[in-house]
Amino acid sequence: MTAGLEQFRMLIGGKAADAISGRTFESQNPYTGRPWAVVPDGGPQDVDAAVRAARAALEGEWGDVTGFARAALLRRLGDLIGENAERLARFEVNDSGKLYREMIGQLTALGGWYHYYAGLADKIEGKQIPTPNPDYLVYTRREPVGVVAMITPWNSPLMLLTWKLAPALAAGCTVVVKPSEHSPASTLAFAELFEQAGFPPGVMNVVSGLSRETGEALAGHPGVDKVAFTGSTATGRAVATAAAQNLNRVTLELGGKSPQIVFPDADLSAAANGIVAGVFAATGQTCMAGSRLIVHESVHDELVDLVARRAARIRLGDPQDPATEMGPVANAPQYEKVVHYLRTAQAEGATVAYGGTADSSLGGYFVKPTVLTGVSPESTVVREEVFGPVLSAYTFTDETQALTLANDTPYGLAGAIWTKDVHRAHRVAARLRAGTVWINAYRVVAPSVPFGGYGDSGLGRENGLAAIEEYTENKSVWVELTGGTRDPFTLG
Ligand code: NAD
Repeated sequence: MTAGLEQFRMLIGGKAADAISGRTFESQNPYTGRPWAVVPDGGPQDVDAAVRAARAALEGEWGDVTGFARAALLRRLGDLIGENAERLARFEVNDSGKLYREMIGQLTALGGWYHYYAGLADKIEGKQIPTPNPDYLVYTRREPVGVVAMITPWNSPLMLLTWKLAPALAAGCTVVVKPSEHSPASTLAFAELFEQAGFPPGVMNVVSGLSRETGEALAGHPGVDKVAFTGSTATGRAVATAAAQNLNRVTLELGGKSPQIVFPDADLSAAANGIVAGVFAATGQTCMAGSRLIVHESVHDELVDLVARRAARIRLGDPQDPATEMGPVANAPQYEKVVHYLRTAQAEGATVAYGGTADSSLGGYFVKPTVLTGVSPESTVVREEVFGPVLSAYTFTDETQALTLANDTPYGLAGAIWTKDVHRAHRVAARLRAGTVWINAYRVVAPSVPFGGYGDSGLGRENGLAAIEEYTENKSVWVELTGGTRDPFTLG
């Protein structure tokens, strides 16, 4: 049954592991529609074992590793991910149908994240703090928050894991990862690099599992100190609720409905290019998809025409082919969801400028890149995250209205402003309620730049110096300097 399929195993306490139950599941390739890999179907017992291993590592050898030594390990890990980029990228393509050309780009860049956090691992400093009473020396220590549970989605498995893992390791934490059931392979393969990089056993543990019970067991595990999650807003709420039972910290990177605001003075061909990058790249399956086009009424028709004509030329096909620009939707439930939104939009009166349907000519889960006009701020397709290649265009008449429309969403992950007016660009950027604003650009990220959301798009920040704070506790140490005693019945 599983002959000819690639086999993967979990990593627990530095050892390759099968599920305690012995169960496995098959991972499907959404382009071929066939299974290509077999992975362990871990459950709550496996999660227990992984959390115990992570705790033992924290209290053992890893707890004594200095920031300088962690930096060296992170540099090595960064090199190794680069050396294995091609293999890991192919696993991600097989699991998710994302383009090889995108995934090899991501995997090649990821070394930079480990190198950036290697540069910070030996610079995690406390402070000496003055107090009103000169008899005390007070200093702070930044200590690892402890065992971190990391739960990741299917759309960019190793990139979204790295945004958590690199700062967590730099801070000295240990980790249990639960990758998505739709794309577990690359995370399981990546875990094999830890021993090679020289990390002690148990610093990184991975449990794969088919049922949502596995993620639930990890999010609510009493042996965990923090939960870092990327995924849908609905699951994020469940994860935060489970973590709250343990009064654990959480970082949540959730969904989005990001606006692209185009003013009449914008370079329309650059804007059209940025809009295509924002919503059709990765088949629209990115949290930062710029899925709402809010365009000045005077340039609406011209811009929609430019975007629709480019959408019509997008090459759909085999994700492994370097000429392909858009692959299939990543899995059956996601495909059903996108098609449902296309039908709902048209039933609610949207006009299709291009696309609007699935593309059955290619087999698999292909959906045409879609440009919708005639939508209103209340349309379902404008309010809800589609997580597919669907752009909804509507108009504004002045800057105030543009901002009102852009901020009229429960989300707040990202957004873009297209204008040549430097005053307006910064004015609008300041008033957009979103964690990232691009001016005359879209979908650019870097290890050094914080990323995260307002509102329903999440909690906390990944990347940059900000992420180190997410993985450290701040301890204050008071040292009495005189050697004397004091009145024990008053507060010092
Ligand atoms: P999802 O929420 O269905 O699943 C995410 C992960 O959570 C998976 O590993 C899943 O197994 C696990 N999970 C499911 N139920 C759980 C529970 N009750 N407790 C603990 N874990 C549970 O999301 P998805 O479909 O894999 O990913 C798509 C979503 O992710 C989109 O909404 C997208 O916007 C969001 N996303 C956000 C970002 C970001 O950085 N903000 C990045 C990528 C994706």
